[in-house]
Amino acid sequence: MPPRPKPQLYGPTVEYDTSTNEPVAPFEKAVKFVCPRCGQYTVIRTQKSRKLGITYKCPICGFEGP
Ligand SMILES: [Zn+2]
Repeated sequence: MPPRPKPQLYGPTVEYDTSTNEPVAPFEKAVKFVCPRCGQYTVIRTQKSRKLGITYKCPICGFEGP
């Protein structure tokens, strides 16, 4: 008997905050923008990160911003 295929996870795509790595809730007002320096990396920031003033860092060019 051939093995059954693994079930696929189904649900909304969850994005993660660039700085804190916390998942962004679907109803949360998070910001998403491309890196202002290289324009290649998409930075995602939750409200919490913005409120706490946590800086993000682009893994491609190393740009850091508040
Ligand atoms: Zn960058």
